[in-house]
Amino acid sequence: MKRIEEPIYITRPFLPPIEEYYEGIKTIWENQYLTNNGPIVREFAERLKTHLKVKNMSLFVNGTLALDCAIKALDLKGEIITTPFTFAATTHCIANNQIKPVFCDISLKDYNINVDSIESLINENTTAIMPVHVYGTPCDVKGIEKIAKKYNLKVLYDAAHAFGVEVNGKPIGEYGDMSMFSLHSTKVFHSIEGGAIVCKDEAYIKKMEALRNFGIYNEESIELIGTNAKMNEFQATMGILNLKYVDCEIEKRKKITRNYRSILKNIKGIRLLDEIENVKYSYSYFPILIEKEFGKSRDEVFEELKKFNIFARKYFYPLCSDFTCYSQNKSETLLNAQYVSENILTLPLYGQLTEYQVEYICNVLKILIVA
Ligand SMILES: *Cc1c(COP(=O)(O)O)cnc(C)c1O
Repeated sequence: MKRIEEPIYITRPFLPPIEEYYEGIKTIWENQYLTNNGPIVREFAERLKTHLKVKNMSLFVNGTLALDCAIKALDLKGEIITTPFTFAATTHCIANNQIKPVFCDISLKDYNINVDSIESLINENTTAIMPVHVYGTPCDVKGIEKIAKKYNLKVLYDAAHAFGVEVNGKPIGEYGDMSMFSLHSTKVFHSIEGGAIVCKDEAYIKKMEALRNFGIYNEESIELIGTNAKMNEFQATMGILNLKYVDCEIEKRKKITRNYRSILKNIKGIRLLDEIENVKYSYSYFPILIEKEFGKSRDEVFEELKKFNIFARKYFYPLCSDFTCYSQNKSETLLNAQYVSENILTLPLYGQLTEYQVEYICNVLKILIVA
């Protein structure tokens, strides 16, 4: 197998034509308004609401601070039940609010929080469930809702991977008390950096907008211990532009995913996630599970791919529960999460990835795993 010349990385940020961005930022010079909930940020919020088919939204400088403010707005305390199979930001936001993250095992069918394991972790200190739609695969939203109702818990979704995802024709942001969409440049849709909070109850929007602006309600009334988490006009300009192209980007990723699936589905040793019926995906990531009993381990495949100029990612390894900063929470009961974390590999996925590159990646995988 001849090694490809140009390295293939896990992702490449989408960039609109540069002239369009120049044109867009001219408005900023005209307005002399750079940040502090300016006109472009407000317009972006309106357009994004329409695009995501949601009613209440507040924009932030990044997803992590959006999540942090959401925890504060919901007034969460004590303990939050969450998944260990996620990006560091999810757990860090909980811990940064002096709340204990309680890790729940995941399900092997979607790698999301296992609804059947949640109830046994609830105690008098539990205030919320914070699930993640990992890779953009929707959680068992109905099951989570049922438990939350029964125990009077809040539900805050980390929907960082789930931009534009729908379940049974319903936007994913309609589930739970709030959802956070990350608009970081490595995500399907971005505003350079950014985060959007969607919430069911309109009353929370006012609180979120105060929290992102130092807790200021008006000049003389500072009611909350807020922070500086405001999105700026340059970010919003990029967001508005990218919104024009996002459906096309998702369509390209869908095709690439189809290609990956059709080539990889019959390889012994590679397990793919089943696609769920009635879900509209946004094709954020393409994870494969390497079953080492058929040949090579994930770590061996990961290293050998590099020799072929293919840079996959061990998303998500290590588990958040195994980070040294959370070692007191270490648990041996997260068996599925441990198994998936040790064997998962996400493959390159972005709109510009060519058919040739996808075939190349698959052929290399075949050689590595079957040999
Ligand atoms: C990217 C990501 C975040 C953080 O979002 P930022 O916008 O980068 O701050 C949070 N959770 C998950 C699961 C993510 O992948």
